[in-house]
Amino acid sequence: MTPVDLRSDTVTRPRARMRAAMADAEVGDDVYGEDPSVNRLEARVAELLGHEAGLFTATGSLANQLGLRLLVPPGSELLCEQNAHVARAELGAAAVFSGITTRTWPSVDGRLVADVPLSMMEPDAGPYLVSTAAIALENTHNFGGGSVQPLAQAQALRAGVEGTGVGLHLDGARLFNAHVATGEPLQAWGRLFDTVSVCLSKGLGAPVGSVLVSSADAIARARVWRKRYGGGMRQVGVLAAAGHYALDHHVERLADDHAHAAAIAAACAAARPGVVDPAAVQTNIVLLDLRGSGLGAGELVERARGEGVLASAFGPDRVRLVTHLDIDDDDADRAAAVLARHLSG
Ligand SMILES: *Cc1c(COP(=O)(O)O)cnc(C)c1O
Repeated sequence: MTPVDLRSDTVTRPRARMRAAMADAEVGDDVYGEDPSVNRLEARVAELLGHEAGLFTATGSLANQLGLRLLVPPGSELLCEQNAHVARAELGAAAVFSGITTRTWPSVDGRLVADVPLSMMEPDAGPYLVSTAAIALENTHNFGGGSVQPLAQAQALRAGVEGTGVGLHLDGARLFNAHVATGEPLQAWGRLFDTVSVCLSKGLGAPVGSVLVSSADAIARARVWRKRYGGGMRQVGVLAAAGHYALDHHVERLADDHAHAAAIAAACAAARPGVVDPAAVQTNIVLLDLRGSGLGAGELVERARGEGVLASAFGPDRVRLVTHLDIDDDDADRAAAVLARHLSG
């Protein structure tokens, strides 16, 4: 039996129809701006998010780093939540590539309380302290358990930076999950931020690709930096075609992933009360907190693996489960049954 792979929503494999769309893609040299499929994808995602222009990148990390590069001059500061992907999972890229220092704030489940970063921000700190150039937010919050950011707090953040020169970046790797979970328009989110990255290769199921959106001028500058980083690609319309296919067919169905995550969370909570609050599972990520359960994360992951269910251990007592396009109802049932058995035993 093929394993039920809940390690990440990046593990999806393109199926026949997506591959057919890729094979049929019109292509050209994208460094010359001549790939029609890429150009259409960049314009499409920019429009979806209420921005002027977009830039196709190989990874979400590159899209984030180009956004931060645009907003934060070397020697200045980025503020972000302490478990943000840009702080923890991009290998120090903001420091290495852009000379950015990062200061972080604590939170509950990654959720924004706008006053927290606003009270830390020092836009014009003078010659002694580092000045804040940008604030980054992540929606949904990956290590927060797929939590959805409150729109009202994001609006308060925008209002709070108005007139200060501090930029706002949105790491929207899973913004489509937030959109489907809340029904809030993508543009309502996109328009609050100066730069926004979205991933096509997470829940949307494309094999590769992210898009950074911003103003036309900012994206023109990001295009130069992308090439400088070695990220200029040629006939990548074949990849953009997968992105178009994903946007055409895989957005509304994210609701299925959310339902599967909710069912898995409910089964785990029933088996061992306290490991997860099912009401806190808003999208496609379930974080189990095994503290006090007598079971270690590595142990649970190993036992589940032995029965064909793959999960990720985060540290000694947290396990992350992520639902996605390649998990169907039967897979979710199987995973819930295996996890519940080991949690109750
Ligand atoms: C996956 C992810 C990214 C981008 O990751 P890549 O592997 O570089 O594509 C960025 N932000 C968050 C929150 C993510 O989960």
